[in-house]
Amino acid sequence: MSERLTGRERQEEDAGEASLRPQLLSDFTGQKLLRENLSVFIQAASARGEALDHVLLHGPPGLGKTTLAQIVAREMGVGFRATSGPVLQRAGDLAAILTNLQPRDVLFVDEIHRLQPAIEETLYPAMEDFQLDLIIGEGPAARTVRIDLPPFTLVGATTRSGLLSTPLRDRFGIPLRLNLYTPEELFRIVRRGAEKLGFALSEDGAREIANRSRGTPRIAGRLLRRVRDFAVVEGRVADRTMANLALERLEVDARGLDAMDRRYLRRIAEHHNGGPVGVETLAAALSESRDTLEDVVEPFLIQEGLVLRTPRGRMLGEPGWRHLGLTPPAGSVV
Ligand code: ADP
Repeated sequence: MSERLTGRERQEEDAGEASLRPQLLSDFTGQKLLRENLSVFIQAASARGEALDHVLLHGPPGLGKTTLAQIVAREMGVGFRATSGPVLQRAGDLAAILTNLQPRDVLFVDEIHRLQPAIEETLYPAMEDFQLDLIIGEGPAARTVRIDLPPFTLVGATTRSGLLSTPLRDRFGIPLRLNLYTPEELFRIVRRGAEKLGFALSEDGAREIANRSRGTPRIAGRLLRRVRDFAVVEGRVADRTMANLALERLEVDARGLDAMDRRYLRRIAEHHNGGPVGVETLAAALSESRDTLEDVVEPFLIQEGLVLRTPRGRMLGEPGWRHLGLTPPAGSVV
């Protein structure tokens, strides 16, 4: 299993993460356009005294979707409730949450692409007309009761918006995409995190962590905490050399790739001669789910050109071969 944290494995890390979470939009680093747009929509809704339109956040895990949902509630000055697609098992679970919301509250649904179809259908009138149709009783005595809900904002999070059904996707007035962060943005996030943790980290140490965080704040936060552990135990200042040492011990290489990334690249190189190879085949060979490969492993490798996504499958890009210290086979198209 990948060392990295996907949605389901992240709970354990939450206690540590909570202390690093930005609280306001102005503290949120990066995603400039998204931040500016969201700020306008929040100000406009607040000025009208209305609930913010429903927001869909999509992007790889660890880029700040949960954080942004909490920020929306705080900026609007309203309550925040959180749940997730797989947790909601019955329509009644959703009804209980919706009927307990206060006007304009934010309801955050993580992994919204994993909602049961019956629950998704209950959600449509709730999102559109703030109404809930509940079926009371069973058999011939069953009847439908319509309940009015307070106007609320649904903030849904998903790793890929393509995973959502069209009717659900269409009901979000504000779809926002989160992109991987630049090393400079991650540098600012790491510096800020170190300050919050009260930990003396040199500038070059922070850069080293930022450059090796795969464009992902969650990974930056985790590496920061591990580097701090090594610095404390070794009784040394956390500078670039120290960060290097710690990251080497964590098997994070110079480019930020971890053991799973390298296994993935090596599989394509050594077993498929550089590809193309289907993602299902790779998933089976690496004992990972296809979703984990597509949501967690691939976005960064593709962005960096290490891997190419072609209609016939995944292929190793020239930088991918170089990263493994191999030469592309003669006649290779890359
Ligand atoms: P997601 O919900 O997309 O998986 P989270 O919102 O849980 O991601 O963020 C993961 C971690 O990264 C949290 O600790 C959060 O504080 C941090 N983080 C995310 N985005 C930012 C950002 N723009 N600036 C600073 N920290 C961030």
